[in-house]
Amino acid sequence: MQVDSPKVPNPSRMLPKHAPMNQFFVNDGELVVGGERLSMLAARVGQTPFYAYDRTLMCSRVATLRKVLPKQVKLHYAMKANPMPAVVGLMAGLVDGIDVASAGELKVALDAGANPCEVSFAGPGKRDNELRQAVASRVLINIESFREVSALEAISSELGLPARVAVRVNPDFELKGSGMKMGGGPKPFGVDVEQMPELLANIGRAGLDFEGFHLFAGSQNLLSESICDAQQKAYELALRLAQQAPLPVRFLNLGGGFGIPYFPGDQPLDLAPIGDNLARLVQRAQTDLPHASLVIELGRFLVGEAGVYVTRIVDRKISRDHVYLVADGGLHHHLAASGNFGQVVRKNYPVTIGNQLDSQNVETASVVGPLCTPLDLLADRLTLPVAQVGDLVVVFQSGAYGASASPQGFLGHPVCIEVLV
Ligand SMILES: *Cc1c(COP(=O)(O)O)cnc(C)c1O
Repeated sequence: MQVDSPKVPNPSRMLPKHAPMNQFFVNDGELVVGGERLSMLAARVGQTPFYAYDRTLMCSRVATLRKVLPKQVKLHYAMKANPMPAVVGLMAGLVDGIDVASAGELKVALDAGANPCEVSFAGPGKRDNELRQAVASRVLINIESFREVSALEAISSELGLPARVAVRVNPDFELKGSGMKMGGGPKPFGVDVEQMPELLANIGRAGLDFEGFHLFAGSQNLLSESICDAQQKAYELALRLAQQAPLPVRFLNLGGGFGIPYFPGDQPLDLAPIGDNLARLVQRAQTDLPHASLVIELGRFLVGEAGVYVTRIVDRKISRDHVYLVADGGLHHHLAASGNFGQVVRKNYPVTIGNQLDSQNVETASVVGPLCTPLDLLADRLTLPVAQVGDLVVVFQSGAYGASASPQGFLGHPVCIEVLV
C-alpha cells in the first residue's frame, strides 16, 4: 500500500544518544510518528497515555522481509503480538495469512478481511466451542492434543464439514538463544514427536482433512544461525513425519522467532542468511514435499519496532538526590517495559523524552508510573533530557506485546488508547 511521506518538513533521522532508535524521524526536537510531531499527535489523540503505531514502518518492515524471503515462502502474521483491529486489518493486506490463538482473535482476523483459507489457529487449550467456530469458519486448526482430534471428529460430523487440520509438533530440539522457548523438552504446546505415529493414525481414522505440520520452537531470537538451525531441523523432522501422515503434506509452518533489539548491545537480526537458508529448503521441498507451501509466522518482528508508548509526566520528584519522573502511564499499560513480562533480569527498554530531543541538558532520572508498587518502573536510572511536568515520555519498541499483554484493570486507572497513524 502507498503511504504519504511525512507531513513534517526537513525531518532528520538521527536520534540523540539516549535513544538510539533510528526508525523514526525527529523534527524540531520532537519525535515524528506517522508523519506527525509528537505533541501534535498527543493533541490529536486527545489524551495520554497512548500507543501509536506507524503504518509506514509496518509496511516497510514487511517489504524488507519480502525482499530477502524466497517468493514461495508464505508470511503469516501472529496477531497475538498486536491484536488491535486496525493493525490486523493493515497486516491482513500485507501478509499471506494470519495466525490466531483464540476464537476472539479469530473474530478480529475475519472481521479484518483475512481469507479463512490462510488463517491458522494454534493454542494449547482450545475449548470445544472455539473448535466449532474454527471448523465453521473453515480455518486451519493446529492440533495440539489427542483430545482435539476426537473433539474435531465429533464437530466435523455434526457440521458436515471435515475440519482442516495441521499437527503442531513439540520437537526434540530447542531454538537456541531464544528469549522464550516454546518447543523441545516437556511442553504444554503441541504433541511430542514421539507420540506422532499414534496421533497421525487417529487423524486418519477420524477422517479429518490433514494438511501438514506446524513447528514453533521459540520467540525473540536475534541469532540468525539459531533460527536457520531450527528451520533446518523443523524441515528434516517434517520430512520424516510426512511418511506417517494420512495425506500428502500441503502446509509446513517452520515457525518464526525473529527477534528485535531492545537493550544496549542487542544487534538487529541478520535476515540474509535466513533468506538463503529458506531458499535452499524451498528448493529441496520441490522434490521432497511437492505439494507443500512453506510458511513462517512472525509477530513481534513485523510490528514491534513500529510502535511507541507515550505517557505524560505528571510529577517530578527528588528523593535523596534521585530524580523521579512520575508519568500517567506505566506497568498497567506496558507490562513488558516494566520488565515483568518474561524478563529474567530487568533491563530498560529504550526510553526518551519525545518532545525534548534537541536538549543538551541531560540528567540521570527514573521514570515511574502512577501505580502504588515498586514494580511500576518504565526506566531505571537512565540518562534523559531534563524533563518537566507536561513533557512526553516515549517508550520505543512498543508495537508488540504492549496494551493487550498488560493488566489494564490493575489499580483502576484509565485504559490506554491505541492509534494506527
Ligand atoms: C506467539 C507466537 C508467535 C509469535 O511470536 P513472535 O515472537 O511475536 O514472533 C508465533 N507462533 C506461535 C505459535 C506463537 O504462539
